[in-house]
Order: sequence, then C-alpha cells, then structure tokens
Amino acid sequence: MVTVKSEREIELMRAAGLTTARILDAMCQMAKPGVSTWDLDHLAETMCKEAGVTPAFKGYHGFPACVCISVNDEVVHGIPSKKRVLKDGDIVGLDFGVIKDGWYGDTARSVAIGKVAPEAEKLLKITQESLLRGIAEAKPGNRVFDIGHAVQAHAEAAGFSVVREFVGHGIGRALHEDPQVPNYGPKGKGMVLKTGMVLAIEPMINAGRPDVRVLQDGWTAVTTDKSLSAHFEHTVAITENGPVILTALA
Ligand code: MG
Repeated sequence: MVTVKSEREIELMRAAGLTTARILDAMCQMAKPGVSTWDLDHLAETMCKEAGVTPAFKGYHGFPACVCISVNDEVVHGIPSKKRVLKDGDIVGLDFGVIKDGWYGDTARSVAIGKVAPEAEKLLKITQESLLRGIAEAKPGNRVFDIGHAVQAHAEAAGFSVVREFVGHGIGRALHEDPQVPNYGPKGKGMVLKTGMVLAIEPMINAGRPDVRVLQDGWTAVTTDKSLSAHFEHTVAITENGPVILTALA
C-alpha cells in the first residue's frame, strides 16, 4: 500500500531521519582499521538507547543486529561480527534505520577504510552520485522508474553495474511500504509520484557484474564475481518544492 504523508507527518519523519543520520555518521567516523563490525553495531545500539529510539533492523525478519554492515564484495545485509575486523583498503557499507515516535528512518553509506584502490574510490563516488541523481527525479508528476533510470544511467556510464535483486521502497510507519523503487528501468514508466510520498532510495552498485548470491548465513548478499560493491541510501520526501532528504545530517 502506498501511503501519503501530511506535512506534520513528514516533520516527524525528518526527526526520525535526523537521528538515523547522526548515528550513521558516528559509525562512519569510527570505521577505521582495527575496528570490528561488531564495535560499530555496538556504537549504534548504545546511541539508540541514549536517543530513546528503537533500532529498526534488529529482529526484523530475525536479523540479529542493529546495523547491516557489508564489506568489500558483500552487497547488503552483512551481519556484524567481532571476527570481522576492518583493515586498510576495505570499503564498508553501513545500512541503518531507527523508529522514532512510530516513524522510520532508513539510510546507508559506504566508506573507505584507510587508503583504498582507485577503483574502490571511484565506485564510492559514482554510487553516491547515482543516489543523488535518483533523488533529483523524486518529484511530483515524475514516475518511479525515472529514479531508477537516472541511477542506472550514471552507474553504467562509469562502467559499473546495478544490482537487481534489492530495491528501494516506500517508508513511513512501516520500514517497507509500496512502491518498490528499483535502481534501473525505463524512463517515464511506473507509478506517478505524488506530494507526500516518502521513498527510501538505495542504489547498490557493483564494480563488476550485477549478479549477487546470498551466503549460508541466510542474510549476507555478495557479488558472484567477487567484485566490490557499494551502497548509499536516503529517506526522501516528495514535496511540492521537489525532493527533501529526511536523512540529511543537517
Ligand atoms: Mg532501505
């Protein structure tokens, strides 16, 4: 079901989004060589308690942690672990959400650990730019696939590929609402976007082939060709004045 939010509801979602963004940013600052992915999850859990918000992913379909942390060829849904210690040259995707006053925020960022290879650097830059290009299409009268088309065009022009199996989504009082928001597709197709819709737009871009598979843990998605993958996400409100990023840091 697609839900349309009032201005007041979008204000509440902005409050949830801002808290989500601040906690994600703290994790990104902490992500350095020698830090485990469990350490990052622990920081998020502590900050949620301090802020009086609920981590949105913990227990969601049984997910065992607060944050999805995906390193290098891991695409999404990596499970934090004390054994997974970040090292110089890694790229790490952090995907995080909270529930505040009944409203969800959902945001992701991929960061470089120490000094990374030029291709990894380029992948991070292009994926972030792809997200911003997708967001720019999130305005009334456009259609859902206009977002994915913009993401795909930018990623593929750089020689990268778009993951098909995981897509963005509507968000509000539930983490996943309609419509689905693919990161690919034909311009001018799909549902018409309206003022008051809120979407989580989240390109996952691979340096190599688009194909992914899920590991035996039942969660972690990896690239089948072992190429690097990056993930950026914002929760975005569609307003009369265009897109408003609810998970912006300030
Ligand atoms: Mg999401």
